[in-house]
Amino acid sequence: MSIQTTNPTTNKVVKSFDEMTDEQVEAAIRKSNDFFQEWKKTSYEDRAKVLHKAADLMRKGKSDLANLITLEMGKIKAQAEWEVDLSADILDYYANNGAAFLADKKLNPESGEAFVRSSPIGVLFGVMPWNFPFYQIVRFAAPNIMVGNTILLKHASIVPQCGIAIEELFREAKAPEGLYTNLLISGKRSTALVSDERIKGVSLTGSEGAGASIAEAAGKHLKKSVLELGGSDAFIILEDADIDTVVEMAIAGRFSNTGQSCVASKRFIAVGAIADEFLEKFTKKVASLKVGDPMDPNTQVGPLSSEGALVNLLDQVKRFEKAGAKVVVGGKRAFETGAFMQPTILTNLKRGVPTFQEELFGPVASFYKVANEQEAIDLANDSPFGLGGSIFTKDIERAIKIADQIDSGMVFINEPTGTQADLPFGGTKGSGYGRELSEQGIHEFVNKKLIRVS
Ligand code: NDP
Repeated sequence: MSIQTTNPTTNKVVKSFDEMTDEQVEAAIRKSNDFFQEWKKTSYEDRAKVLHKAADLMRKGKSDLANLITLEMGKIKAQAEWEVDLSADILDYYANNGAAFLADKKLNPESGEAFVRSSPIGVLFGVMPWNFPFYQIVRFAAPNIMVGNTILLKHASIVPQCGIAIEELFREAKAPEGLYTNLLISGKRSTALVSDERIKGVSLTGSEGAGASIAEAAGKHLKKSVLELGGSDAFIILEDADIDTVVEMAIAGRFSNTGQSCVASKRFIAVGAIADEFLEKFTKKVASLKVGDPMDPNTQVGPLSSEGALVNLLDQVKRFEKAGAKVVVGGKRAFETGAFMQPTILTNLKRGVPTFQEELFGPVASFYKVANEQEAIDLANDSPFGLGGSIFTKDIERAIKIADQIDSGMVFINEPTGTQADLPFGGTKGSGYGRELSEQGIHEFVNKKLIRVS
């Protein structure tokens, strides 16, 4: 059974699901496409009503929905509740602002009149990961529902109950049948769907392998795609930063969601004399983090999303060590039972060795001491990824100049890379392309139709 809930706190299988048959998938695509013909004619007010209602239901059901997240992928309960709140905010944000973002744009041609109208394009296919099982879905679905597109959603196979719960939320929010459909299918079957001529665009958040597979199919069939893939964000600490504050930020940036975030701070780069002090204080703090039951309010680091993810990460740490890295703290499985990893710091990482450019998707920080600002920038850019990054200094002008030189889609000054409804999110290089959230995110799957009046 490839689709199942396995509680990573215990590694016990809780519930298994049958994949949808080809006939069921065909019926879902047909329904979504048929309904698009109606949905595209609805008003923004009608679309906003569905989103507001879904947001209300999300907030009302917050605790139960957060429990589902914790059960299926091990997120600490308080962080799961935060995710549900953020997801409700995103639904409301697009309900409130979508119409203005999509309003006709008047042009000023040399002669006559012209404007650009933002029209929906049809059925969209979303392929989403387990690490933020509500947020990842709504940041794709909410803007596109507002646009007038319809949604087919394939969620990660380890969070099927979250996928089903989101579909139920839309149903309870009086979303007509065909507007939002959850597809219980494996990743392997997803790529084939892209060739269906009724599907007009595809968005994937996940690994580079899955992204490349989807993008290849989208390219072959001449469809728009948006990819949000991995990241290995640099966290640059300049000489004048306040170290105690920075250590708190470093803990939040690296260890929230047990480090399983594409925009987690992954590479800590400290400049000059403060580097040793930072490492000492950071190590002390990391060693004191409480790992344990994600339902316990005192827990700071929960399990990884699955035993497979843990085995993978332990293997990566071993390979890093073989390549010369030193484990300063952690580096091992935390308990006999469950997918728990000790919070870990690696130092002595060498540029040029094969492991150097790998993303560490879990509670493992890598630390680098560099001599000056230029070395920090060069190191930050020595990555196949280009998602986010952060810079810590009292000198904001200097930070902005450095931000200009970082090859990434986002740079945050004096805080770890984060996300909110009204800020664009996305990357460059191996981190993918396209943007989600904010005004930018709503224009990805839109036909910018020129209407010219002579
Ligand atoms: P995957 O990329 O395998 O999974 C993400 C989504 O893609 C899931 O819905 C998955 O389905 C689907 N998928 C997998 N393979 C294919 C494929 N060939 N064609 C189409 N869809 C596919 O991520 P993993 O869960 O395996 O995590 C592996 C790594 O990916 C992590 O270590 C991390 O580096 C990165 N990742 C990045 C995320 C981000 O936020 N950017 C989120 C999650 C992972 P199914 O579950 O059925 O396989």
